[in-house]
Amino acid sequence: MKTAPITPGRLAFSPDGVPLAPEFGDVYHPAAGALQQAHHVFLGGNRLPARWGGRGRFVILETGFGLGNNFLATWDAWQRDPQRCERLVFVSIEKHPLTREDLARAHAASPLPELARALVSAWPLSTPNLHPIAFEGGRVQLLLGFGDVALLLPQLVVSVDAFFLDGFAPARNPEMWEPRRLQRLGRLAAPGATAATWSAARVVRDGLSAAGFTVETTAGTGGKRDITVARFTPRHIAVPPPGGWHAHDAASREALVIGAGLAGCAAAWALSQQGWQCQLLDRAAEPADVTSGNPAGLFHGSFHRDDGPHARTLRAAALATERLAGAWIAQGRVSGQLAGCLRLESRWSDDAARAAMAAQQIAPGYIDWMDRAVASTLSGLALPSGAWFYPGGGWLAPRDYARELLARSGSLFRGGIDVATIERHSGLWRVLDEQRQVIAEAPVLVLANGLGANGLLASGRGEVPWPLTAVRGQISSLATDGHPATLPCPRLPVAGGGYVLPQTGGRLLFGATSQPDDIDPALRDADHRFNLQQLAGLSGCDVEAWSSLPWQGRVGWRAVTSDRLPLIGAVPDLEALDRTSRADQPRFVPRQRDARGGLYVFTGLGSRGITWAALGGQLLASWISGAPCPLEADLRDALDPARYALPRWRSDS
Ligand SMILES: Cc1cc2nc3c(=O)[nH]c(=O)nc-3n(C[C@H](O)[C@H](O)[C@H](O)COP(=O)(O)OP(=O)(O)OC[C@H]3O[C@@H](n4cnc5c(N)ncnc54)[C@H](O)[C@@H]3O)c2cc1C
Repeated sequence: MKTAPITPGRLAFSPDGVPLAPEFGDVYHPAAGALQQAHHVFLGGNRLPARWGGRGRFVILETGFGLGNNFLATWDAWQRDPQRCERLVFVSIEKHPLTREDLARAHAASPLPELARALVSAWPLSTPNLHPIAFEGGRVQLLLGFGDVALLLPQLVVSVDAFFLDGFAPARNPEMWEPRRLQRLGRLAAPGATAATWSAARVVRDGLSAAGFTVETTAGTGGKRDITVARFTPRHIAVPPPGGWHAHDAASREALVIGAGLAGCAAAWALSQQGWQCQLLDRAAEPADVTSGNPAGLFHGSFHRDDGPHARTLRAAALATERLAGAWIAQGRVSGQLAGCLRLESRWSDDAARAAMAAQQIAPGYIDWMDRAVASTLSGLALPSGAWFYPGGGWLAPRDYARELLARSGSLFRGGIDVATIERHSGLWRVLDEQRQVIAEAPVLVLANGLGANGLLASGRGEVPWPLTAVRGQISSLATDGHPATLPCPRLPVAGGGYVLPQTGGRLLFGATSQPDDIDPALRDADHRFNLQQLAGLSGCDVEAWSSLPWQGRVGWRAVTSDRLPLIGAVPDLEALDRTSRADQPRFVPRQRDARGGLYVFTGLGSRGITWAALGGQLLASWISGAPCPLEADLRDALDPARYALPRWRSDS
């Protein structure tokens, strides 16, 4: 998918105080009130709250978030309903999102002030991606998609129970109501889905009929004579492809997770948000003691002129990290700092960098360009070049972060357990030790054990289609006591050739080396000198003065894929793949899973584990639980382990 720049919506008010969108020459809601319309048209028209009663999850898709009044009214109705569904998921697409300031203005006199305040404070940046936001400890989930419905509807991976069709009027916003747009709704509809809209226009009714809905008009409100309501009654129901997305939750929501580093802990946290219970097994006695046990690491997004899959997934991942970890850093639960991060860039001139940003109209709250002088002042170092500034980036202690994720998940952690083999037995996934004693079993098994994932996969069914390279890294740290004047301590993380973090616990941390296929666990002087050289390159300082200082370090191995993107999803079934007639896209690749459960992988986090953890966990939880996918379909495919199975099918077919 090619993203398009986001132009924020403009907010004006009519003389009688009704909010207006000047671009569309239309009101955001009728003068009689937004909440009245929400209740009569969208909730009433979809027979809510009655229909969500007793459900595990109920998913609403809205076209046109606008001021968010339908979301607030739905959330309020959910809160008041004693029979409410366990989880309410509200997916909404908005082409012109308001700025946070305008949203606050629009809700200044909201009849639902607490909910409106929560929405305003969680309001994301206007970047072109999906923004998953959790309220009520994950029981109310808002998935906001900023962009054109034409781009985003085909990219949604959701199964929708109720549609709120709330764009501006067909006469003013015809693209929203085009027949092929409405046709898409049929592809996203769950069995028994309903739809409602205040529009009774012919084009809307015909479009819904063509998409497989039975359409009726019913009495309107707020000056509207008729509104449209519809039930999904398709003639055919398409069979989902074998590697596609399963909307249903498993009967037993229990998962075993091998590995309690950032990946395993994030998986447990995200699954708990979907109502799942996890048991985490780790060879180490404590969680996050191996690669995720570094004292600190940095996190930030990415920017590329083409806004391709790497830039888009890392942007979504960085925003998710900022949202989740930022709060815990602020509360002092995770050591770290969220005050931005600088990434040096010597290949771009100031003009070229600013032109690239302007072309994408990317929100400055996400990334900004700083020339050398400004970046140097901000960091407190004499930097050698200009830099990208990620305001939502920073550094944190990965061990704290992983342990907080684990604690929030309420999962059982079992340390000191070395899993030697996995196997499928009587419909369950079993993990066994060296003596082939069963350690535990569950319908769902997640391999989040870093570089060890491939070994366990090989122990189960043999071949593994993706290479995972172990890239050794050594970080260095120096005590700052007695040397503060000479050591280059930045005010915020600075990355480029290597990185340096602000001093913490009286130490300056910098690094790191990058040595593929080097298995030496010993700390090496030569690597420390290399790290000092990188520090000199970042700070413009002479390293000689520090080379004799006593130092500490830590060695770890990154699990790196050949395309530098993580592996997140259901493990392909290669035997079935060899027999299949079509597997040219990940969704056609058969998997090692069925309606009861399956085998999943979450690894390959490379040197960006902190950034990937939260979103990766949410993506994995969507695979396992059937919750709406937090990423667009093409990005889900980009991280799907099945991408490595496609060449095998192509060469065999
Ligand atoms: C030097 C260095 C610097 C880095 N700096 C940064 C940085 O600044 N920012 C950043 O985002 N990332 C950084 N990273 C990368 C980051 O640390 C990793 O991406 C992340 O820790 C990987 O997490 P994980 O959960 O996948 O793996 P791990 O943390 O390695 O967790 C895997 C767990 O699985 C367990 N396990 C393995 N096999 C078995 C088995 N058979 N049975 C039971 N348990 C098993 C292990 O004991 C381990 O606890 C750095 C990495 C290195 C090496």
